[in-house]
Order: sequence, then structure tokens, then C-alpha cells
Amino acid sequence: MKSVADYLKFACEIAGDDDVDHLQRWKLLKWTEDLQSFLGTRDGANVWIPGGILAVPIEPPLPQDYGRDEFRDLQVAIRTVLDGVTREYGMHEHTNIKFSYSLHPIFGHYIMNVMGATRDVFLFKLALLLAGEASRIILKCPEPKCGKFFYRVRKQKYCSRLCTVRASVRNKRNGLAKPKGKDGSARILHNRKIGSKRRKRNKAQ
Ligand SMILES: [Zn+2]
Repeated sequence: MKSVADYLKFACEIAGDDDVDHLQRWKLLKWTEDLQSFLGTRDGANVWIPGGILAVPIEPPLPQDYGRDEFRDLQVAIRTVLDGVTREYGMHEHTNIKFSYSLHPIFGHYIMNVMGATRDVFLFKLALLLAGEASRIILKCPEPKCGKFFYRVRKQKYCSRLCTVRASVRNKRNGLAKPKGKDGSARILHNRKIGSKRRKRNKAQ
């Protein structure tokens, strides 16, 4: 993981997992590695990126010791944050975190060094990353049975290909074709084309 997009996709991945209690071992291992990468610590060493933020967990459980229980708690907190960023109106639930920080001048920039519990420094870094992005970069999948959060790529509307297909099948079943014309549906556009053909034919007769 290197880019902001990678970090935010990782947060969405944790938020969207439906079965954290039975997380497979390989995935658990991958998540603990990604968690360290997200925070800016790798193999116990701190990665100092000028202009960045170094989130150092100092209270156990540390990221490398994170298990299913810890990821479930983190998931609840991430979902609360992402619910807020995908909701324009209504009440926004606040998230409590506790940390200390210091600023270090490195290579002509400052780096913010944040220390606290893994959960808290993770959530603070997530907030900073989100605050630096456009407000519609994280969306909630509108598919009724899904509702997963995802990092939007271009004009992506649903979280996955599966949800896009589901929605399109349902729309077809309900007689709603994919909207293509300015005024709504492909059907209107189609009718209009037929109408203009008929008009031309009538003129020719
Ligand atoms: Zn979906």
C-alpha cells in the first residue's frame, strides 16, 4: 500500500467484511501487515515521510498482535466514520479518540508524529486522509442487499460488478431500461427515433 487510494480502500475493505469473526488466517495476516503499512510502521520500524503523518501505536494490542476481536472493534468505528462521510443530512455520530502528537521538521517539511492506541491513531489518520479528498470519493453501495462502502473509481455507482449486474437485472425486470437520453430512459429515446422515422416516411408518401 502506497497511495491514499490504497489506504482508503483498505479502510473500506475492513468496513465491508461481513464475517470478521471467522476471518481466514491468511486474511488476518494480510490485514495486520496492511494495518502497519497504513500507520507508517513496518516490521516495527517507523517510516518517516516528509509532509506526512506517522501514527505510532504505543498501547497494546499493537497492529502485529491484532486478532479478529480487535478488527471487529475497529470495523465498528470505521463504519461509523464512513457512515458520516456518505451521509449529507441527518445526525452524524461522533467518534472518540485519544492521542498525543508532536511535529518534527524533516527535509524542509514537517511530519506529524501521533501516538496512542492502534485504534485511535488509525482513526485519526483515516480522518486526515478523508479530509484531504473530495467529499464524494467514498460511497455507500445503493444496492438494497449490499450497502457496502467503497472507494469510487471514475463514475462507479455500485461497489462491485456483482451489484452492478444485480441492479441492471432488476431494472430490466421492472421495465426500466438503462437511462441514456437526457430525459430519462432509453425507451423514450427509442420511441422518439421510431416517431421521427414515421414522420419522415409520412413526408415521403
Ligand atoms: Zn454493493
